[in-house]
Amino acid sequence: MSNRIPDSIIQEVQNRSDIVEVISQYLPLKPAGKNFKALCPFHQEKTPSFMVSPERQIFNCFGCQVGGNVFSFLMKHESLTFLEALKMLADQSGVSLPEMTGPEGDGGKNLRLFELNELAVRFFQSCLKSQEGAKALRYLLEGRGLSKETIGRFSLGYASTSWDSLLRETGKRGFSPSILEEAGLALSRKDGEGFYDRFRNRIIFPIFNVTGKVLGFGGRTLDGKDPKYMNSPETAIYHKSANLYGLNLAKEHILREGKVVVVEGYLDAITPAQGGIGNVVASLGTALTSGHVRLLRRYGQDVVMVYDSDTAGVEATLRGLDLLVEEGMHVKVVSLPPGQDPDVFVRREGKEVFRRKIEEAEGLFDYKLNLLSTRYNRDSVEGPAEIVKRMLPTIDKFQNAIEKKGYIKRLAEELDLRGRITSGEEWILTELQKLRRPALRIRPGGKDRTPSPIPSPEAGSARAERDLLQIMLQEEELVGEVKKKLRASDFRDEKYSQLAKVIFHLKKEESKPVRIGEVINYLQDEELSATVSRLVMEQSPYQDKTKAIEDCINRIKEEGKKSKKRELTERIREAEGQGQKDLVKNLQLEYQQLLVKKRGE
Ligand SMILES: [Zn+2]
Repeated sequence: MSNRIPDSIIQEVQNRSDIVEVISQYLPLKPAGKNFKALCPFHQEKTPSFMVSPERQIFNCFGCQVGGNVFSFLMKHESLTFLEALKMLADQSGVSLPEMTGPEGDGGKNLRLFELNELAVRFFQSCLKSQEGAKALRYLLEGRGLSKETIGRFSLGYASTSWDSLLRETGKRGFSPSILEEAGLALSRKDGEGFYDRFRNRIIFPIFNVTGKVLGFGGRTLDGKDPKYMNSPETAIYHKSANLYGLNLAKEHILREGKVVVVEGYLDAITPAQGGIGNVVASLGTALTSGHVRLLRRYGQDVVMVYDSDTAGVEATLRGLDLLVEEGMHVKVVSLPPGQDPDVFVRREGKEVFRRKIEEAEGLFDYKLNLLSTRYNRDSVEGPAEIVKRMLPTIDKFQNAIEKKGYIKRLAEELDLRGRITSGEEWILTELQKLRRPALRIRPGGKDRTPSPIPSPEAGSARAERDLLQIMLQEEELVGEVKKKLRASDFRDEKYSQLAKVIFHLKKEESKPVRIGEVINYLQDEELSATVSRLVMEQSPYQDKTKAIEDCINRIKEEGKKSKKRELTERIREAEGQGQKDLVKNLQLEYQQLLVKKRGE
């Protein structure tokens, strides 16, 4: 291991950071036997194959083959280095780490960006309470009707008119202007040297991730300067297509209510939340992506979209909804009166009316059909054809065949096609098939990418090597037995040999147990860590482990000898060809010894 943190401290942090607790901050875990399961955050799936073991303190996804311990999870989920993940968990669990030169030296900068953003939030908050922020505070309290509590809950702040107050403040704490630029908080001057604050004279809305870490910021103008809302750019930690505003505060409510309400802007999420409607998140104006869908799916399948009915991009919005349907989500839509967004609506009509609107939301099919019916004349000649054409992509996304057929039937009925053509349903079906032909998507099996659980039949002794490692990882007390009879170099599969080497190395003395977490930390390798957690989580095929060990060891030794014999034969033939008599004799002797040894054992 390349870091200078003593193993005992790493162990201490790991002991205090329960993997179930840590992962629960990111996704809801459901009990499954003695483990917990969830929809995997690392690949798209509809049935959970992501498992967490509280007993072993590891996780593993049988779908995309990722796995490891609590550090591996954070490293993968937050794109952190090992040291950064260690530092993050040390902070959370109250373990103080020895002074480090800074995680940047470790090649990672993401933790530093999180720390900077955190500092910026506190600075913006203090500015809101200062003399200079009085106008901004008044705007929030009086203009927007927010309470002080709500302002605190969403950590709202104010960026002053100064060109460099944030740069100066964070500079005092050792943050360079260039890291502020990387965080999207500062911009470099066009005409040469120096930097200036990106957000000036704006209300600040910090954007949190699902665990409450600050990813970026939104700033609303106070002096009418365009743009009205300015957001952080994409950074190493802020990915717009994988984050929804307000989810950190809304997630509990979403689970409780069984549905999530998706709105567009910051205040559209904040104002209803102040009124007690907490299951609201904002897409911040971007069209929904598969990243958003994956995030929402963790909490449930029911989504209610709320839109201002005269939103310019309503059609684009509708396309985003098809994506939700395709992922098996149940989508409903609320359209508000023209010119009203949820923020205005709740302030004007009250939270109860808004709540009722959500409860009475229309299914996507009806919503879209009604919308299209206001645009195309159903009674004209072309109208129904246009409507059908625009409805088909949505209908096509429903995965359930019966549901799909039901919608086709309803569309034919609604448009009263029967009166015009002999069979409306058949016609729609034909159109649907036409739609599909050019865009034949390749989806193996038509389902989630299903993994091959265990690699195909393994050559030579690889299967025995794998089974033996599994036993050692699952039954720690048997490691000593194996270590007495085999060396790591006896494992011929390179990956398994590396694992055996680490396990044997960590088994320094008979009484010292080998912990899985320790093996994973020692490996410092994503793929090998995943292999370890998979082996631990899978059921071993053997009942009698002691006998299995013996069988596996014999098999490995036998295969080793076979290959050694093959190698010797090859070398003897070569030496004979070159006329190297002495060498031939030596090799033959070696071959003889191999045979004797085999009989003798
Ligand atoms: Zn996965």
